[in-house]
Amino acid sequence: MPSLKNYPPSHKATADSAKKLRKIAILAGDGIGPEVMTEAKKVLAAVSEKFKIEFELKESLVGGAAIDSFGEALPAETLKICEESDAILFGSVGGEKWNSLPPEKRPEVGALLPLRKHFDLFANIRPAGVLPMLKNSSPLKPSIIGDGFAFTVVRELTGDVYFGEKKSEKDFASDLMIYHRNEVQRIARVAFELARNSRQKVTNVDKANVLATSQFWRSIVEEIHEKEFPEIELDHLYIDNATMQILVRPNDFDIVLAGNLFGDILSDEAAQISGSIGLQASASINGINSRDISGIKRMGLFEPMGGSAPNIAGKGIANPIAQIRCVGMMLEMSFEEGDATSAIENAILKTLENGLRTADIFTGSAGEQKVSTAEMGDSIVKNILA
Ligand code: NAD
Repeated sequence: MPSLKNYPPSHKATADSAKKLRKIAILAGDGIGPEVMTEAKKVLAAVSEKFKIEFELKESLVGGAAIDSFGEALPAETLKICEESDAILFGSVGGEKWNSLPPEKRPEVGALLPLRKHFDLFANIRPAGVLPMLKNSSPLKPSIIGDGFAFTVVRELTGDVYFGEKKSEKDFASDLMIYHRNEVQRIARVAFELARNSRQKVTNVDKANVLATSQFWRSIVEEIHEKEFPEIELDHLYIDNATMQILVRPNDFDIVLAGNLFGDILSDEAAQISGSIGLQASASINGINSRDISGIKRMGLFEPMGGSAPNIAGKGIANPIAQIRCVGMMLEMSFEEGDATSAIENAILKTLENGLRTADIFTGSAGEQKVSTAEMGDSIVKNILA
């Protein structure tokens, strides 16, 4: 995972903040959600013990499980718990059982979209990369992977064609692609701030050769760059070229900035070339520092990139690493506990170096040992505490 150390830079941990109670809403959801969340909670307990951080965990139903009990995917009680928390640790939602519901009532749309909207979680951050011992799990050739790659996709999450006016008539349909100045400014700042703590480079992805929205977007990214982050390297790629360049030279990327639609495409491509979806975590946040948050509580929602994986749910074989990495991202991005994040990431590396593999990353090579969800979690906990 690319280093997010000391993110955001304006919030340094102090003796006082180290003692502060960290309130976390735990929304495990459906399918493998509760199984992998169990391991994430074990990791939180280990971090609490090792780093003397006090956590208050409040669990609540979300998604299909909430529909079954309360008739809606995001019950008022769940939202209240989120509002009273400093961060949301989210599992995954959805499953066959709820697929016949109208789209807006289904677990995914009925829970995640309102949460993003309610807390204005406009920045989606998805680290991508191949761990040295898991190079075989990437579909990319070893010659392209080289020593391994690590880049982060920063996707704008609350604007663009997804939220513009929609029309559907008998002979035409349209979706308005629209961005406002402040929406581009704030996501650009997130990308540049992340680059400051990484390898000092932002690649902006758009379609400025064709779209007025992209020309506007690009001009604002350049303005923010020039005025506020001139020390960061900035380059631009058109989305069609970007999808190719990421496949042939992934090592050249650090922070990849894109709007909602193009970021959607790029972040799935990035997850795929990183190996198993069971390894990939993501964060959705509503601010990089106080200047971006006008009256809205700072909030982060941390969730694995994969879904509820109904095909393996209940078997105890899901990979808990994505959910555990969500804990790492939360500790760093919401609580400025970067040392705890590093300890988690190192414990994951150690566990994988020791050969432990859940089914999704098991190749049968010498030295590998196939383990369950719980065994993987236990080993990571042991390595955190070692
Ligand atoms: P999925 O990500 O759940 O599964 C795709 C494949 O990846 C499956 O083979 C699954 O077994 C595997 N996989 C996913 N997570 C894994 C893990 N931790 N360990 C090992 N293997 C893992 O995608 P899908 O099958 O298209 O969707 C299943 C359900 O999840 C659907 O209802 C979908 O709408 C929902 N979904 C929810 C979210 C979310 O909650 N944010 C995201 C995507 C999909």
